[in-house]
Amino acid sequence: PQIGPQEFQQLADQFNQMSGRLRDMFEKLRVSEEARSELVANVSHDLRTPMASIQSFVEALQDDVIQDQETFNRYLQTIRLETRKLNGLIEDLFQLSRLHAGAIELHQHTVAVDSLFVEVLHSHYMLLRETGLEVEVRVPDDIGSIWIDEFEIKRALGNLLQNAIQYAPVASTILFEARPSTGDFVELSLRDEGPGIDENDLKRVFDRFYRSDPSRGREGGGAGLGLAIVQSIVERHGGKVGVDSRIGEGSRFWFTVPLNRHGLS
Ligand code: ADP
Repeated sequence: PQIGPQEFQQLADQFNQMSGRLRDMFEKLRVSEEARSELVANVSHDLRTPMASIQSFVEALQDDVIQDQETFNRYLQTIRLETRKLNGLIEDLFQLSRLHAGAIELHQHTVAVDSLFVEVLHSHYMLLRETGLEVEVRVPDDIGSIWIDEFEIKRALGNLLQNAIQYAPVASTILFEARPSTGDFVELSLRDEGPGIDENDLKRVFDRFYRSDPSRGREGGGAGLGLAIVQSIVERHGGKVGVDSRIGEGSRFWFTVPLNRHGLS
C-alpha cells in the first residue's frame, strides 16, 4: 500500500515522539543509577568514619598504653558516642529504605493536635532542659483532629525538633504551630530562631544525605537523613513538606497531614 505525504508526516511525528520518550526514560534510568551509586558511597562513608574511630580507640585501650583512669574513661565515652551514632544511622537507613519500599503500613487514627505536640515535647524534655530553650505551642481551638499514624508523625516532628534544638541559640524560643491548610489538611510547623538556611541550600535540605555547613549547628549533626525521613512519612500520608527560612532570621519547617474526616473526635 502507498503512503501519502500526510500519513508519512504523521508516522514521522509519532516516531519522533516515541524516540523522545525513550530518551527521557533512559535519562531517568541513568540518573537513578547515578543516585544509587552516590547513595552507596555516602552510606559507606558515614558507616566507615565512626567504625574507624571505634576501632582506633579499642586498639588504644587494648595496647595498655593508657595509664590514667581519666583518659581511659574518655576513650570509653568516645566509643559509646560513636557506637550510638552508628546505631542511629543504621536505624535511619533502615527506616528510610522501608518507607521507600512502601513496606511501612500506616495505622491511621484520630489524634488531637495539642496532645500530639505535648507528647513530642515530653519525649525531648531532657534535651530541651539542657539547652535552656523556651517552647511555645499555638493550636487554634477549632483546628479539629487529624487522621494520622501517630507513631510515624511523632517521629517526623521529633526529627524537626531535634534539628531545631541543634540549631537554635541558647535561651531562644521554638514555636510549635498548627494552622488550617487547603483542602482537608492541617499544617503543623516548627519555627526556630537559629542561623537560617541559605537560599541555595533550601531546595536541597530534604534530599537524602544533604548537609549544609555543619559548623553552624551546635554539634556535628547527623548523616543528613532526618529530613528525608520526614518527607517520606508525610508523603505516605498524602501531605506536603516545606521550609521557609532566611539567613539570620531562623527557619520554619512545616508539613501537612489529613484532617480527621471520619466524624470521630
Ligand atoms: P542532619 O540533621 O542529620 O544533618 P537533616 O536531614 O535533618 O540531617 O538536615 C539536613 C540539613 O538541613 C542539615 O545538615 C542542616 O544543614 C539543615 N537544617 C536542618 N534543620 C535546620 C534548622 N532548623 N536550621 C538550620 N539548618 C537546618
